[in-house]
Amino acid sequence: MKIAIYPGSFDPITNGHLDIIERAMTIFDKVFVAIAQNIAKDPLFTVEERLHHIKESTNNNKNVEAEYFSGLLVEYAASKKAQAIIRGLRAVSDFENEFQMALMNRSLREDVETVFLMPNEKYTYLNSSIVKEIARYGGDVSNFVPAVVNKHLRQKFEKLQ
Ligand code: ADP
Repeated sequence: MKIAIYPGSFDPITNGHLDIIERAMTIFDKVFVAIAQNIAKDPLFTVEERLHHIKESTNNNKNVEAEYFSGLLVEYAASKKAQAIIRGLRAVSDFENEFQMALMNRSLREDVETVFLMPNEKYTYLNSSIVKEIARYGGDVSNFVPAVVNKHLRQKFEKLQ
């Protein structure tokens, strides 16, 4: 069984993330979408809300599982018997940081490979922060996020309009 972990903040999950998950599913039998605790970031959505978004937008596919994790990513990957960590590469600007993390993770655990996947070009400029910024000012993000996230963003920012 080929298992992969796709870690990130997913605050919120976007169509770019979903594109990567779909690609990963053509290679792996099981993909754990893992919400990482990132103390440097102040999240808009709670972990429970983000888990709900991921579950809804992956249509409860049994080969995709959403989970929260804290601690070292490679240890979490090993606990899931995962052979790989999936990361998305949008542009050259993603490369340096991703390269550093991949090599650091390899030095921590050699048996977990990092696999980079490129999304469809139409998602290369998309990230969760931009989506939140547009939604905050009442812009339409329905082409960039799954329906469940679009609805929840509207509810969150309704009071501000
Ligand atoms: P992080 O806080 O780790 O950057 P994100 O949720 O923003 O978490 O991203 C998780 C992973 O998904 C990263 O590898 C990131 O490069 C990738 N990613 C984010 N947005 C996109 C997108 N639009 N297309 C492809 N990959 C993406």
